[in-house]
Amino acid sequence: MQKLLLLGDEAIAQAALDAGLSGIYAYPGTPSTEITEYVMNSKEAKTGKVVASWGTNEKTAMEAALGMSYAGKRAMVCMKHVGLNVAADAFVNSSITGANGGLIVVAADDPSMHSSQNEQDSRFYGKFALIPILEPGNQQEAYDMVHYGFELSEKFRIPVMLRITTRLAHSRSGVATSKEPRPQNEIRLPENLRQFILLPANARRQYKQLLGNQAAFIAESENSPFNKLIDHKDKSLGIIACGLAYNYLIENFDDFNVPHPVLRIGQYPLPEKMVRELYDSCDSLLILEDGYPVVEEMIRGFMDNGKPVKGRLDGTIPRDGELNPNIVARALGLTDTYGRDIPAIVSNRPPQLCKGCPHIYSYNALNEALASVSKGRVFSDIGCYTLGALEPFNAINSCVDMGASITMAKGAADAGLTPAIAVIGDSTFTHSGMTGLLDAVLSKSNITVIILDNATTAMTGGQDSAALGKIEDICVGIGVEKEHIRILNPLPKNHEESLRIMKEEIAYEGVSVIIPRRECIQTAARRFKEDKKKRESTKTEA
Ligand code: SF4
Repeated sequence: MQKLLLLGDEAIAQAALDAGLSGIYAYPGTPSTEITEYVMNSKEAKTGKVVASWGTNEKTAMEAALGMSYAGKRAMVCMKHVGLNVAADAFVNSSITGANGGLIVVAADDPSMHSSQNEQDSRFYGKFALIPILEPGNQQEAYDMVHYGFELSEKFRIPVMLRITTRLAHSRSGVATSKEPRPQNEIRLPENLRQFILLPANARRQYKQLLGNQAAFIAESENSPFNKLIDHKDKSLGIIACGLAYNYLIENFDDFNVPHPVLRIGQYPLPEKMVRELYDSCDSLLILEDGYPVVEEMIRGFMDNGKPVKGRLDGTIPRDGELNPNIVARALGLTDTYGRDIPAIVSNRPPQLCKGCPHIYSYNALNEALASVSKGRVFSDIGCYTLGALEPFNAINSCVDMGASITMAKGAADAGLTPAIAVIGDSTFTHSGMTGLLDAVLSKSNITVIILDNATTAMTGGQDSAALGKIEDICVGIGVEKEHIRILNPLPKNHEESLRIMKEEIAYEGVSVIIPRRECIQTAARRFKEDKKKRESTKTEA
């Protein structure tokens, strides 16, 4: 055994490598990105022993992981919570196909929306798909749960969800790792070669099997090392603490001695007997969970016989936002003195585009090109360029989900709003924008699509963009007329030319595409540094 100082994300990645992972697939999304990056930087990935790859989107990543599982090998797929919406078709159906090699689906939730459009709770998806869910309370558990999750997945031939949240993903702790990594599985096809064919007759049979397995999943939860009923004297209150919430609870007591009975939950479906035992032995219950009141709703639904159940639904805990020790303290009637006041010198720093960012000059030209029409015509997408919503640009009017810019512009143009402009990044375009562009071409919509090509997935730290070098060909292939695919270089010195091109294409009645192309300056700076390092080491060797 060795001890490593790891982020929650890194603990998951290291565990996957130690547990015999053969492939990891993902689309970058905060707070999940570091899992795949860690595997990509491992010697196993660099020597080709493990496949580590960014998918074009979360759905393609999910399907590739399912394919690797089909071939009998252990696979992991990682995404942020809203990415699971994109992968949902494959994800929900994978519970009916089942797995062959161990398959773990990591969903990283972002309560308080530090870097997201919503704070949806992926446990609902796991419950919806009727699969086991693991929710670590610390980095060590995250490590241990990956090993356990692969075993569980192979035992029941079912995908297993690992649900984490931002604080766990992005905080560090010492993690004891296995001494001997487990060897990878050999290729082994499913015993039943029809297992993955979801024709109705087959799907019906396998769905019954999935339903039949629910009792076994609950039994696993009752005996899970990650669910513990810890008895204490003061039974005026029983506490259910899910995942990370357990830490927020114990931090409020000297030597972590909670006076009330606590049911610590790290595995779902809920261990019914344990919940019943706690409920029956205490006068009231407090439910602590980061995210939606998933467990609280279940408790209220199944056991509501008048005993007070406190949590997010009765206002004991705010309905939105992530938990912290002070919120838990208030819920327990304690003084919330955890942590220190933030000194006045630390002020809020709203995010902004980097100095010299290519998007600045694209927005300057776009704003000027639209100066003569009323505001409210620019549909944006998700990336650094979403910051165009802020001062001084005030350049965009929507940001809903990946790819929505093009299809929303199309809908608005269908309604008669012209000009209607879509603004989308290169990586988001290949993630979910291409099909929307095809819709627009098929409908001969009167829209202008601006694909901001900075040659990377900048917002999540500069991962490779699947669109690199392909955007014009894709647009031509989809049916955009060649003469209405225009490239510009967003630099101040090219402002007049950019403005002219934008005006011309906005005036065109049909689908036009403008591609402002200049590398993200952060990625360019990193690349320059790496190249320099390489040149210096070559010189030293010579
Ligand atoms: S990271 Fe790159 S794309 Fe994002 S704001 Fe900075 S320069 Fe612009």
